[in-house]
Amino acid sequence: MYKPVVLILLILTSLTTPPLSAAEVFKRNSVVMGTDIELTASAADETDEARVNAAFDAAIREMERIEAEMSEWRDGTPISLVNQKSGKEAVPVPDELFQVIAAAQKVSGLSNGAFDISWAAMRGVWNFAKGQERLPAPEEIQKMLPLVNYKNIELDEVKKTVFLRKPEMAIGLGAIAKGYAVDKAMQALVNSGIKNAIVKAGGDMRVQGTNDGKPWDIGIRHPRSRERLLGKLPLSNISISTSGDYERFFIKDGILYHHIMDPKTGYPARGCQSVTILAPDTMTSDALSTAVFVLGPEDGMKLIKGLPGIEGVIVDSQGKVHYSAGISLN
Ligand code: ADP
Ligand code: MG
Repeated sequence: MYKPVVLILLILTSLTTPPLSAAEVFKRNSVVMGTDIELTASAADETDEARVNAAFDAAIREMERIEAEMSEWRDGTPISLVNQKSGKEAVPVPDELFQVIAAAQKVSGLSNGAFDISWAAMRGVWNFAKGQERLPAPEEIQKMLPLVNYKNIELDEVKKTVFLRKPEMAIGLGAIAKGYAVDKAMQALVNSGIKNAIVKAGGDMRVQGTNDGKPWDIGIRHPRSRERLLGKLPLSNISISTSGDYERFFIKDGILYHHIMDPKTGYPARGCQSVTILAPDTMTSDALSTAVFVLGPEDGMKLIKGLPGIEGVIVDSQGKVHYSAGISLN
């Protein structure tokens, strides 16, 4: 990871800036990894529409390729094979998947286990899908919780194998693979000659170059209102990810249950409404936004401050907004 000095101006006042008109940018919308994808290329720098479309095609193909490798929901993917063999044997995986799992393990170590891809043992217990919402009984959670522990994921750097030590353990890359896919999609755009662009997959975004010589204007969503923004950031050559309790959730008996789990309790993490992280790459911003969300505002901000090149905005459970030092209000 490199260490850019990030000085970000958060403009809280003029939130009425009109969106870029279609004439100024090329756009493509799609759905990959069950997520809305939006590709944007600056029309100020690139006028050949056929070339832009070919680049967009390449970026989407790249994300689909990664989904086929890293989705734990599909049968037969390399990661599903690792899960199938839990407690039995080490499974060789493609180098790329190995790298993403290794990166996840690093974030687990940094966050003292707040981030843990072995949360996936809980997949069948909780369900946040619309119409299939499921609040598990406390006994079910207590039964599965011992399976959640990143220290039981064994990586062999030489053989490039992954072994889940306990039977019924599982790993899931929902909090990191999307960020990785965004990085690879941007790489595909750049390789196709598109140097000024945005790749957005749900809450994960890579912002490359400029639009007509100016940084891109990126809004941070307010966790409690779709219409309001927390603010806007002028960004260039950086990644930004937001994890929120409003993405996948259900409400039961007046209590909001959402999809970001505290591995220590087996229940949704309660300290934050949303966390936005800026980082040199999107795999990192994706994983850290989830990690900080689980850690909560105090420990989360400590983690952000301790990491070079990382900045963040935390909205705590009371709605209070906390900024790291590199984000200065304008
Ligand atoms: P989004 O998917 O909305 O971008 P996140 O990046 O925060 O949000 O990822 C949330 C997803 O990550 C969950 O849907 C689940 O698949 C997985 N997950 C939930 N809790 C954790 C955790 N503590 N550590 C790692 N992954 C998690
Ligand atoms: Mg994430």
